Amino acid sequence: MRIRFLSPEDAQKVAAGEVIERPANGIKELLENSIDAKATHIELEVHEGGKTKIRITDNGIGMSSDDAHICFERYATSKLGSFNDLTHVQTHGFRGEALASICSVAKVTLTTKEQGHIEGLQLKIEEGKVLSSHTVSSQVGTTLLIEDLFYNIPARKKFLKNTATEWNQILALFKAFCLAYPHVHFELFHNDEQIYNCPTVPSVTQRIAQLFDARVTTSLCELITVQTNELSVSGVVTTSDYNRYDRSGIYFFVNNRLVKNYQLGRALLKGFENLLPPGKYPLAVITLTIDPLYVDVNIHPKKEEVLFLHPHKVEQAICQAVKLTLEKQTEQQLSKSIHRPHNPFGGPTIYNTQQPPFPFAKPLYQPLQTYNGYTPDPFTQEPVTPSSKLDSADPVHVEQQDTVQVNQTYFEEPTYHIIGQHQTTYILLEHPEGLLLVDQHAAHERILYERFKNNFKNPETVHLLFPVIINLSVSDCDLLLRYVDLLKQHGISVEQFGSEQLRITSVPVYAKHLPLAELMQELLSWINEHDAQSDDTFLKKITEKIHAQLACKAAIKAGDVLSHEQMKTVLRDLEKTENRFSCPHGRPTQWLLSTREIEKRFKRIS
Ligand code: ADP
Ligand code: MG
Repeated sequence: MRIRFLSPEDAQKVAAGEVIERPANGIKELLENSIDAKATHIELEVHEGGKTKIRITDNGIGMSSDDAHICFERYATSKLGSFNDLTHVQTHGFRGEALASICSVAKVTLTTKEQGHIEGLQLKIEEGKVLSSHTVSSQVGTTLLIEDLFYNIPARKKFLKNTATEWNQILALFKAFCLAYPHVHFELFHNDEQIYNCPTVPSVTQRIAQLFDARVTTSLCELITVQTNELSVSGVVTTSDYNRYDRSGIYFFVNNRLVKNYQLGRALLKGFENLLPPGKYPLAVITLTIDPLYVDVNIHPKKEEVLFLHPHKVEQAICQAVKLTLEKQTEQQLSKSIHRPHNPFGGPTIYNTQQPPFPFAKPLYQPLQTYNGYTPDPFTQEPVTPSSKLDSADPVHVEQQDTVQVNQTYFEEPTYHIIGQHQTTYILLEHPEGLLLVDQHAAHERILYERFKNNFKNPETVHLLFPVIINLSVSDCDLLLRYVDLLKQHGISVEQFGSEQLRITSVPVYAKHLPLAELMQELLSWINEHDAQSDDTFLKKITEKIHAQLACKAAIKAGDVLSHEQMKTVLRDLEKTENRFSCPHGRPTQWLLSTREIEKRFKRIS
């Protein structure tokens, strides 16, 4: 064996692998170049998940003929004069590596024209060399056509995922760019079909409406900007009435660069402080502007990760921004309920603003701890929640419980009288001590949860005539398959179907009509979130999670119209249920507005 040097071409291919692993990486570089070139309109066309063809057309400043001939040489960049400039770069590119990498692993056609020139220039490049060069008529700006990615590196080509997976990554990336640059018109095509057309909009909120379900925007609120001497945090987040199953709707931009960073995500979620149900995530677009001295964007070949000098300060600022925003939002909701109540008579309603508002607008998902050490403020009525019950915060006692403890009975027949349903969400009851409100979903959820918990081993199952197919990533499939036995114990039979598919073949009788795929997705996100370990406590926790999910899905929903009989059944069942004062997520199931409080408000007593 003799030591030899790689040829420059091969060395370039190896280096390219660090920058371009898959189509989405190449697209990211090209989009960044278009942004750096001050484009205001960018069109992205993709074929077969980017494996066969990618075309990006921008209306940026274009390149001169000289620049076009050298732009794909390694370290060719117009964005950095010397190494000392590194800390101050404002552009995305600065290494001059992207085009060189792409041109060494794909067939590239570059068409470009500068302002004031009559003709454009078209170059065909293969293996980093110009095959042909001629003038063409074209618009001002640049088009890069990338064909046959990895045609000359079969080993790498083999590692490309199926079209759907590659496409999903491109889609996520495209959305991120749209969110970061609302003032740029973006269009996206897949296999000649237009997927998105997002003309320029004045704000990220409108961008979100273009990209996501337009209803999301009603739950969006702008972050209160938090500024320190190093950085400022701004952006938008959805409030707790909107949520998603995973973190895919959370975007962070550091100095306008899309960044992946688990810690930042965690800080964001911390800001929500239990306002989100477990396993649910917000949609958030967070922009961090940070003095370049305090961040290194140069640590990762794909420039996806950044290193903060003081990560803790950054996380704190994010958490703080979210917290302040949500607090303010809750306050506004409360004051709205005083100033603009629904008035059936149409005329202006004048309320004494000194009067505390009704306590309905409290955030739904109160953290458990606050119930225990609850300091009742003048704005809220303390929920009916004996703290001894809530101490059983880890309700995983799988043994059968024969005796049901009843500490306080609020609606024992015949003392209660059902008044009716309020907003098809709460059951209203006349109660000896006042007016009792029962959250029908939370109550039913608790009833079912306790029932599943007590009868969980080997429930009666049905074989599904049409198995439910779940599409997952390969790693998620593998992860879920680790829990096949546990799921089986709960009557759910799951098996591998394809490399990225699982199927459910049988389920417990009561779960027959439940959205099973959604259930599995949620379970997975939860497992991912909670660092899968396979020790006993973790298995117990998953068991608890499965019960809670089944209960949540099978329970009566807010908005379901209930007959008198149905309400009665819920109340009667709830009365016989363990831990009945809170639902499995820790929300209260019921709330008593005492007669005394009612009388005080009507100034019958003082
Ligand atoms: P970098 O972005 O790090 O400078 P690249 O390899 O991505 O390196 O690009 C090399 C050079 O090619 C850029 O510095 C820029 O001058 C030019 N360039 C690339 N894409 C475009 C574009 N879409 N419009 C104008 N110039 C471009
Ligand atoms: Mg670049």
